[in-house]
Amino acid sequence: MKNQCLEPAVVLIKKIYALYDTAIKHFDGVCEKKCSSCCTCNVTLTSLEAGFLIAALTQQEKEKLLTRLKQYFPQKRYIPKMTSNMFARLCMEDGDVPDEHNDPSWGECPLLVDDMCSIYDARPFGCRALMSQINCRQKGYAQIPPIVLTINTLFLQTIEQMDHQGIFGNLSDMLTLFLMNKPFKTVLDQVKKKQDARFLFNEKIVVLMIPPEHREKVRPLLGKLANLS
Ligand code: SF4
Ligand code: SF4
Repeated sequence: MKNQCLEPAVVLIKKIYALYDTAIKHFDGVCEKKCSSCCTCNVTLTSLEAGFLIAALTQQEKEKLLTRLKQYFPQKRYIPKMTSNMFARLCMEDGDVPDEHNDPSWGECPLLVDDMCSIYDARPFGCRALMSQINCRQKGYAQIPPIVLTINTLFLQTIEQMDHQGIFGNLSDMLTLFLMNKPFKTVLDQVKKKQDARFLFNEKIVVLMIPPEHREKVRPLLGKLANLS
């Protein structure tokens, strides 16, 4: 059955992913097919992106994905304590920023099959935003140009704002929740009612985290992002 609630999400997120691809097309990374050290069980996403991902799958693919998630569900995984906009707000208010614990050694993403992403075209922004100018597998860390980090932050904040009535969480938790075949709004209402600690509520942007040296460079992009939301 078609989930009417997801249709605007699909249109919106497609536009934002396309804009991101254009924004970073001049930055060369060494990323290639089957390079998958960055595909860990710690990936996070918004409910808007989960909606896009699920809408891209057939019923059979959804069932397959749910089975895979049940089989490879990571017991130890990153459960975020902050969203991007919450972090920006706390910094602005000089509030207490919670400690986050995130370790790639906790394991690989359950959606990785033979070193390839099984939902590649619908992967969330967190996966799209990962690139490196050095081989992470050899070096043990990624090298991302500072301007790309700023662009990534802008997109993370914008996607969260677009989904300000939604939630944020770990990919495995979020997909398991939304693959239960219930209408999207019902699932969101249930999470809100239960105050499930695995999920955070998205926030609107109170301040954009743009370093002074990048303000002029990202100004045109800001205009394009504003037109999307
Ligand atoms: S970010 Fe690193 S691990 Fe991921 S594809 Fe690029 S080089 Fe490979
Ligand atoms: S969803 Fe796909 S791209 Fe993202 S971490 Fe998992 S396997 Fe990698």
